[in-house]
Amino acid sequence: MRTYAYGYPRLGRKREYKQLIEGFWEGQVSEAALRAGLEALEADRLATYRRFVDHFPVGELSLYDPMLDTALMFGLYSKGGRLEEYFDLARGGRALELTKWFNTNYHYLVPEIPFADGRPPGFRLVGDRPLVEALRRTPEGFPYVIGPYTFLRLSKGYPPEAFGDLLRALAAAYAELFRRLRAAGAAMVHVDEPAWAADVPPEHVALLREVYARLGREADLLVFTYYDSVDFLDQLYDLPLRGIGLDLCHGRENLEVLQRAGFPADKILIAGLVDGRNVWKTDLRAAARLVEALRGWTSAEIWLSNAGPLYHLPVTAEAEARLDPALRERIAFATERLQELRLLKTLLTEGETEEVRGWNTYAHPTDHWFYPEIQERIRRLGPADFAREAPYAERVREQQARLNLPLFPTTTIGSFPQTEDLRRARAAFRAGRLPPADYEALIRERIRYIIQVQEELGLDVLVHGEFERSDMVEFFAERLEGFAITQHGWILSYGTRVYRPPILYGDVRRPRPMTLKEITYAQSLTAKPVKGMLTGPVTMLAWSYVREDIPVHEVAFQIALAIQEEVRDLEAAGIRVIQIDEPAFRERAPLKRRRWPDYFDWAVKAFRLASRAHPATQIHTHMCYSEFNEIIAFIDALDADVISIEATRSRGEVIAAFERYRYERQIGPGVYDVHSPSVPSPESIEAIIERAIRVIPKENIWVNPDCGLKTRRWEEVLPALRNMVAAARRLRQRHGTPAPAPQR
Ligand code: GLN
Ligand code: ZN
Repeated sequence: MRTYAYGYPRLGRKREYKQLIEGFWEGQVSEAALRAGLEALEADRLATYRRFVDHFPVGELSLYDPMLDTALMFGLYSKGGRLEEYFDLARGGRALELTKWFNTNYHYLVPEIPFADGRPPGFRLVGDRPLVEALRRTPEGFPYVIGPYTFLRLSKGYPPEAFGDLLRALAAAYAELFRRLRAAGAAMVHVDEPAWAADVPPEHVALLREVYARLGREADLLVFTYYDSVDFLDQLYDLPLRGIGLDLCHGRENLEVLQRAGFPADKILIAGLVDGRNVWKTDLRAAARLVEALRGWTSAEIWLSNAGPLYHLPVTAEAEARLDPALRERIAFATERLQELRLLKTLLTEGETEEVRGWNTYAHPTDHWFYPEIQERIRRLGPADFAREAPYAERVREQQARLNLPLFPTTTIGSFPQTEDLRRARAAFRAGRLPPADYEALIRERIRYIIQVQEELGLDVLVHGEFERSDMVEFFAERLEGFAITQHGWILSYGTRVYRPPILYGDVRRPRPMTLKEITYAQSLTAKPVKGMLTGPVTMLAWSYVREDIPVHEVAFQIALAIQEEVRDLEAAGIRVIQIDEPAFRERAPLKRRRWPDYFDWAVKAFRLASRAHPATQIHTHMCYSEFNEIIAFIDALDADVISIEATRSRGEVIAAFERYRYERQIGPGVYDVHSPSVPSPESIEAIIERAIRVIPKENIWVNPDCGLKTRRWEEVLPALRNMVAAARRLRQRHGTPAPAPQR
């Protein structure tokens, strides 16, 4: 019985990874110091693996993103040896697009396959040196690579019909890599193929069988799948693979195949038993029972492993001294997962020790966080709770009568630039160095300023700027019961960017209003409508670690009810427009389409429950992506009055979605790319709206940026918004005024 772990976070206990690399960017860390620092960090990572498990990969450390590293390894981008060139591809002038990695909140760089005149490129192995080097330093490690199927599925720039040829060409380069790794002494190679757990069409199964039949002869491969089950698991059994890694936490359907078809005795079954995506301690006894069941289904060697890479978890729970002890005892971050693998092995080989017993005591929730009345209320929800009192057509009349907005109304998505002095003040306030009254005065001053700025710019629906918020999820999690905030629980979102997911451990309750003070203050300064700004239930849940003792839809409904209370308070205070952001609505969808109906059913209901406002209150929602084709019907089902989406960089796609689907509500296709420092011209803004007019009635079109402006600089934001308002005015002149609000 052996243990294997992979994907342990590269961030470091004190976020050393971030400090080193960002220090290098800023010129404060020399290249030599960067390399030495990262080497020490890596040595520490490997030592941690060694302390707890029998086997582990080497070469996992990336300077920014492993997908980019893979692209470089196979010669997709020209790059000399210089670090500056690497970072230029990661975040500079030649930066690749960033996109979510499967259904997680990690973002990878999307490689582009240079596909010229219908001819696939020749992939060449040019960058195996770092991997060979890592192996030389740690000969017992298994070199880590992203597998060819996953790499190609996640890349872009080629027509779908070329997939087969590309995969074969790429596999030839991988074959060379595996040969070199074997020659360099690798006992086995770790190959990540999470895309096998997505929806894989039958022709792809045939293709990947074909290429792995060949690759498996070049080295002893351990292929890892995770995030879900593999629909074609038993079709892998005759391939020359040394082992297959399965996610038995998020891919329980794998168990059905294992029970029915067994597992080949010539391979290692790498059982993902401790969860890489969530933080609850593993019930070791249950995991051991599962291993016993596996033993009944196969005589294959079984290795105990994590289910999914551990970098979706913070480094260690040890540092969380301020958490409620009852919660702290129940959570396991990455280091504790390694500890669990060791304990599980002990349990299976030596039986139940004191340590195992102690651990298992806390593998179950405690009931002192629960409110029976809340759970009861959730179970009593009926259809009326998920519907607004009037249909959209009627609401729009009431809202327009109250708001009296022009054609092509202008607005922003919520946040405005958060400057360093504000962040410093917040840190000082949190540390108790700045009196609350002073901090509040500062926020009020910023609100006054931003209202004045928006009035001067001539925007139609104003925002309060979100200056009091560090993060759109954390802000609400701090104000709701049932959520805990960690002190050091950082994980990577992309590159060196980190965030701290809250832990949703108990029943959700809103002890007091959360946004009322700032929003009503902003509204008191202007006659124009100020939007109330809330984060939606699906996003709150998607960007937190979530309790698992009740069904996830019940958790979503609890959050939704708390948000609904806030909506009601805002309405009562005279707020006429409320935006409920759901940027995670698409991302939270399961990897496999067959699980979509169930997910979208509760996700839509949760939003509708949260947004059950008076008909005269205009409900906005916002999603910062443009892949709408596949989910547009679900977006429609949200029954929001207005939605703002990203459109600047992908006009064609957005328009295409609306060509096929008759969307009758209001929509603001983003006209300002907030991920770029450049200022859009009035002409470029008008061009986007003119295109939209071809498929969306002009009365339904809003003019707004792609997303919040938090990360931009004032010098960019002000001219960009000035151009936006100018463009809207010209559009109004060209397309006339809207029909007067119909009489009722
Ligand atoms: N209202 C939020 C903001 O402007 C929305 C952020 C987001 O969509 N990620 O910052
Ligand atoms: Zn956004």
